Amino acid sequence: MKIAILGEIHNDGIDFLISENFEIVSINNYEKSNLISNLSEIDGIIIRTANLNADILSKCNELKIVARHGVGYDNVDLKYLNEKKIALAITGQSNAVSVAEHVITMMLVLSKNIFASDSLTRANGFDKKGSLPDFFELYQKKILILGFGRIGKALAKRCLGFDMEVNVYDPFVNNESIISNNCKPVELIEGFKIADYISIHLPLNDSTKNLISYNEFSMFKKNLILINTARGGIVNENALYEALFNKNIFAAGLDVFEKEPPSENSKFFTLNNILLTPHNSALTIECRKRMSIESCKNVAFFLKNKSDLNKSNIINFNELKF
Ligand code: NAD
Repeated sequence: MKIAILGEIHNDGIDFLISENFEIVSINNYEKSNLISNLSEIDGIIIRTANLNADILSKCNELKIVARHGVGYDNVDLKYLNEKKIALAITGQSNAVSVAEHVITMMLVLSKNIFASDSLTRANGFDKKGSLPDFFELYQKKILILGFGRIGKALAKRCLGFDMEVNVYDPFVNNESIISNNCKPVELIEGFKIADYISIHLPLNDSTKNLISYNEFSMFKKNLILINTARGGIVNENALYEALFNKNIFAAGLDVFEKEPPSENSKFFTLNNILLTPHNSALTIECRKRMSIESCKNVAFFLKNKSDLNKSNIINFNELKF
């Protein structure tokens, strides 16, 4: 059976597929015509960021499973897959820790003005440390976590380790589960008003697009640090820019953007109260290995040995009923 890998993945997963006697087709040119000509006889696809729309998928005559190397799947036409009873898998177990650590890094770097301290020291300003702006502790601060799934929970655990008060908004998770994780369930507006930190861990969809925009920024505390590692578009970028430029919030950290990559002359590049990373919060070496192995196992076990498959990784399990 043939597996196409769209984009680079860690060798550990590829080695596993080879050991299971799959034929591998590596594809790095995502142009539609190239995808169509290379995918027609493929049984399974492992995909990073390429787009798989219905046009392309309809030419995949043998396709049985698409496996995302990651947990978001907004680049794959799920409706089409459901219609054709093709499975869609994610690497649900792999990246929560990596993203949660990235958020903690952003919170610490921004709270403690690390870049300004580093620049001052390198510029022989050691004795001018009193000139640095105030910086802060996480200790006893309030964080609002939006979305209490895999990453939200992993972040909560780490924030509790810093003795933070962890407030959670997730209308799809019951309050008992939030409380049993030593966190406080809150309503959205209440959370917005009390938060010193907000971190976003929910999917981008019609109801979460622009979840944080001009109106929400008007409710936040001036010392707020806002982190988005979920998906660009959940925070309105124009509203965020204005809030940062006018110092209506303290700082922000973004790993994801409305348009990726952001434009060469993004307004954010002119600000010194924002920390930007290139959508790499889940790309630690450990996480890349885990995602590679988990995505390859999803495909291999689905095609050959469903009893070993982690069925909770199959997004459309209820549509397929196997
Ligand atoms: P998950 O599915 O485990 O959790 C998402 C949670 O959001 C669920 O508990 C759900 O109930 C909740 N939710 C959904 N809609 C909501 C709403 N309107 N308000 C509040 N809560 C809502 O997902 P996850 O693995 O924790 O991932 C979270 C997000 O992080 C996803 O958007 C994913 O695409 C993104 N992500 C980004 C990276 C990266 O590289 N930056 C890596 C992994 C995941």
